[in-house]
Amino acid sequence: MIREKAYPVEPWHVRETDLDLTAIAQSESVFALANGHIGLRGNLDEGDPHGLPGTYLNSFYEQRPLPYAEAGYGFPESGQTIVNVTNGKLIRLLVDDEPLDIRYGQLHSHERVLDLRAGTLFRTFEWSSPAGDTVRVRSTRLVSFTQRAVAAICYEVEAVNNTVRLIAQSELVANEQLPPRSADPRVAAALEAPLESEEHAVARNGGLLIHRTKQSKLRMAAAMDHIVEYPTSGTVEMEAFEDWARTTVACVLKPGERLRIVKFITYGWSSRRTRPALRDQVEAALAAARMSGWEGLLAEQRGYLDEFWDAADVRIEGDDQVQQAVRFSMFHVLQAGARVEARPVAAKGLTGPGYDGHVFWDSEMYVLPTLTYIKPETVEEPLRWRHATLWLAKERAATLALQGAAFPWRTIRGHECSAYWPAGTAAFHIGADIADAVRRYVNATGDVEFERDIGLELLVETARLWRSLGHIDRNGVFHLDGLTGPDEYTAVADDNLYTNLMAQRNLRAAAKACERHPEQATSLKVDLAEVTSWCEAADAMHIGYDADLGVHPQVTGFTRYQEWDFANTPSDKYPLFLNYPYFDLYRKQVLKQADVVLAMHWRGDAFTPEEKARNFAYYEPRTVRDSSLSSCTQAILAAEVGHLDLAYAYVAEAALMDLHDLHHNTREGLHIAALAGTWLALVAGFGGFRDHDDVPSFAPRLPAGITRLDFSLLWRGHRLRVDVRPEEVEYSLRDGTDGAAMDVRHHGETITVSCEQSVTVAIPPLADPGPAPTQPPGREPAPRPKAPGA
Ligand code: BGC
Repeated sequence: MIREKAYPVEPWHVRETDLDLTAIAQSESVFALANGHIGLRGNLDEGDPHGLPGTYLNSFYEQRPLPYAEAGYGFPESGQTIVNVTNGKLIRLLVDDEPLDIRYGQLHSHERVLDLRAGTLFRTFEWSSPAGDTVRVRSTRLVSFTQRAVAAICYEVEAVNNTVRLIAQSELVANEQLPPRSADPRVAAALEAPLESEEHAVARNGGLLIHRTKQSKLRMAAAMDHIVEYPTSGTVEMEAFEDWARTTVACVLKPGERLRIVKFITYGWSSRRTRPALRDQVEAALAAARMSGWEGLLAEQRGYLDEFWDAADVRIEGDDQVQQAVRFSMFHVLQAGARVEARPVAAKGLTGPGYDGHVFWDSEMYVLPTLTYIKPETVEEPLRWRHATLWLAKERAATLALQGAAFPWRTIRGHECSAYWPAGTAAFHIGADIADAVRRYVNATGDVEFERDIGLELLVETARLWRSLGHIDRNGVFHLDGLTGPDEYTAVADDNLYTNLMAQRNLRAAAKACERHPEQATSLKVDLAEVTSWCEAADAMHIGYDADLGVHPQVTGFTRYQEWDFANTPSDKYPLFLNYPYFDLYRKQVLKQADVVLAMHWRGDAFTPEEKARNFAYYEPRTVRDSSLSSCTQAILAAEVGHLDLAYAYVAEAALMDLHDLHHNTREGLHIAALAGTWLALVAGFGGFRDHDDVPSFAPRLPAGITRLDFSLLWRGHRLRVDVRPEEVEYSLRDGTDGAAMDVRHHGETITVSCEQSVTVAIPPLADPGPAPTQPPGREPAPRPKAPGA
């Protein structure tokens, strides 16, 4: 836990002034840099000490067998695990005879700063070797948003008290030794030396390594080059071997003199391209980086982020801690998605090996909905990736004797990698989640070409799956039986409400898209009979309701399951899945994460306000939030039903999830979906934003303590700004053409906003929602951690 060592509250920085070696792995995740293609954990430049060394390339994985004690038909045979690729971050230093390792000698000062506007990780420290030579080191690292293959480090060493002989060894290292892994299923499988050398070379002031994975046969290249400046004389030598390449700089510094090394690192990978092609790619990327130079890369990075923040920033008055956390969250969401280019956004982004580097449904239901409104061009790419893997999803559906496409629950390359059927393949809702991400993106951007060329087929094949997976009973009701919804503490059950409602929307969206693109629909062999059968299934969809309790059961029969014995569940038994058998969790009324409550967010159009209030009150005391995905959704619904203080507590929990390691596994990587959920919790929670149809609707309302919430959304070429105060809201349009106007709904009333005319409207008074529901004992929203100086 970082809780006691929290980062001081600052608007645009995450700063660490004390290096806590017991929490070093957590800080490596917090300080990770990525651009969606390359990810570097925040390991110290000199490599040691470390928590988890990590360098990742999006979708670069190794295949491994999935062993089963008892195999069954349709069980996936192999898994995929993200590879810790060649480490280019390393710069080791020898100060006279002593290796710079902060565990020896004396560390006088230490500071690391993640700069959310500059897009850099800065580190400075002063250290005395055991022999008493003091050096001051400053290093700044970036992973470029503008040059996708490029990372760079500016590393400076200054002699402080004595004349010192300095040897800096800047390296590329493949097959790094990784620390032993725990038994927690959320960590990654261990891969022993997954890379086989294909080529190594020395070039200019650096070198190059090309490797291939043994099983998945993916090829990667890493290259480095250096610009070295030292005061008088020194030497630069290069060498390269199979698993490492090194540039050694030797010089003598008098007190006050400095050595400066700018290191450019480039990466490329491919399953198809030849060795020379990859070599040329990384060398060309190096040439581009050299042309920009360090200052140029910094300027490009800043420019890219200025534009991002202009659309994405959420300003909060009255809560500096949440203000910092939401910016930290948005920065990492951008880092996860910025340059994925037809690849997915994994659950941990590229910040750690957790969950084997897999992508899940949370990409479509948490990350992409956020990016849709602040950086829409990044949404198209992961959806194109889903489209590119459609053939695998169709194969999987065929294996399961189904029509259409069965997308994998967890994967890197598109194959199902879940070895656990009940919380894997049975969670078919992933198909509807992908369809909803398509619908949302097209609705928000008006990108009809994308819908025609990519989206339509995704909608059609997922609709086909629902039609073949479900059945119409003798009373004409359509059921989806034996599936798992978002809550993983109830599995393989009938008519999961979330799944049914999302499938219903999927079926209707597919039918409408076919109407809009009849030619393409015909080419996908869709005919009128098929479209009619989708609409019939959607109209006949079973929506369970427990009339006695006045609530929607999560699955058929849920409200009569035995209650979980919370009173006799000690606090150290959470998360429950690490301490109780699944069979017991499955047959009781206990939720890992929001399910009906999630349905009430994304399919809020299917519930009355009274139903929402009753459902929320029913599920709240049964939801333990063993998943990081829950608090943001609970925040949104708590706000909608009027429990603003509870919503606020959940917003803070979502926002501080990783900065304070609330789930005790930040070391394995950040919870990217929960971070995206912070934006959702604020914008959909206190902003009340919903996108159920083609008019965006808002129902803003602030909790006591927040005096202003100001955010923007990109909507069909308009930039809509929503500036919420306790009593009133101002809606305005920016960047539109003259005369541009759009309709929005404010607490149910339609208003027109134009570029010339902003509109200020009052917030209607809140009807008394009654007492807020309680949570299972000990599972109340996390108490707000205190930051230093707060
Ligand atoms: C959640 C899943 C989620 C996965 C990856 C699990 O703990 O229950 O819903 O997809 O984490 O984020």
